[in-house]
Amino acid sequence: MVRTVNQRCGQVLLLSVFLWLMLPTTVTAADPAADGNSAQHGVILQYHHIAEDTPPATSLSPEVFRGHLDILAREGYTVWPLPRLVQALLDDKPVPDRTVVITFDDAYESIAKTAAPMLQERGFPFTVFVSTDYVDRRQPGYMTWQQLRDLIHQGGNLANHTRSHLHMLRRPEPVSKSHWHKRLRREVDDARQRIREQTGEDWPYFAYPYGEADGELVALIRDWGYLGFGQQSGAVDKRLLQSGMAPRFPFNEMYKDLDDFRTKASSLPLPLQEEEFSGWVFSEAVIPELTLTLEDHRGSLNCFASGQGAIRVEAQDNNVYQVQANQPIPVGRSRYNCTLPVAGQQGRFHWYSRMWMRKKPDGSWYAEP
Ligand SMILES: [Zn+2]
Repeated sequence: MVRTVNQRCGQVLLLSVFLWLMLPTTVTAADPAADGNSAQHGVILQYHHIAEDTPPATSLSPEVFRGHLDILAREGYTVWPLPRLVQALLDDKPVPDRTVVITFDDAYESIAKTAAPMLQERGFPFTVFVSTDYVDRRQPGYMTWQQLRDLIHQGGNLANHTRSHLHMLRRPEPVSKSHWHKRLRREVDDARQRIREQTGEDWPYFAYPYGEADGELVALIRDWGYLGFGQQSGAVDKRLLQSGMAPRFPFNEMYKDLDDFRTKASSLPLPLQEEEFSGWVFSEAVIPELTLTLEDHRGSLNCFASGQGAIRVEAQDNNVYQVQANQPIPVGRSRYNCTLPVAGQQGRFHWYSRMWMRKKPDGSWYAEP
């Protein structure tokens, strides 16, 4: 059904994602937030630790997390379990406008100790993407299987984050592609089996470790029967869910401003019809090109690049926008984020993000911060 078409043109890899064109027209309705009540989109939030003594890049303090939950409880949000949002989007069922899903990656202990009681207090469901080897070997700082089983009774769902939390794109040189793909499949299927054996939970939901994937990996994950979730920001709709790498908004100590949280939690997907971009992983200093075709004219698109602020957006005919940063992207993971004001709704934005990965100048992979 959904395909990513790769075209190699000399040294430039052009990727066209045509999946937008291949879905029934019923999902390409006019602005889904128009009536302010029902919609066909949601926002998925992503957290790691809820703690103050863990690495800032993967942590949010309990105080700020409480602030997020208070906003969700008091400012007109609906918090759904992930399976409910997935099913509603896939079945074209209405979703209340401002519906949010809460997810945690890795299965850190602070979720059981700190986050789950705060969520249970408010009756908010949540999903934990578990890297099962860490639980199996009782790694300090991670939950135990008993703690994970207890979460199910507190509104939790458990889903797949591989066994070992490996970098799935970093195939060692001597290993053939087919062997590597077999290893990846074992990582994913074994994690699902361990979760099922230990807890009875069995969902075909998969979060990419580090939020890293390329077109080939996304296609594999989809072929293996999973819905993939990334860490590039943005709201989600049926098309993005079926793309194999649904967006989630990551939160950590760098993004703890509550107004920033309001903007993200209330965001809508960009009404995308087609997307072209110049690659997933780069080995050289490049300024990636991104071309977004919207369903219809919605006003002016603003885009930003990690560490560069606002970047060039050239509007063309037929609702086509060409987006390109001012300078080469940095080594490591970075993003272009694009936003478009929602007509008639002050302070709300359509939000779309494209993630890039750039290797070090010697061709080796960057270190994790
Ligand atoms: Zn992770």
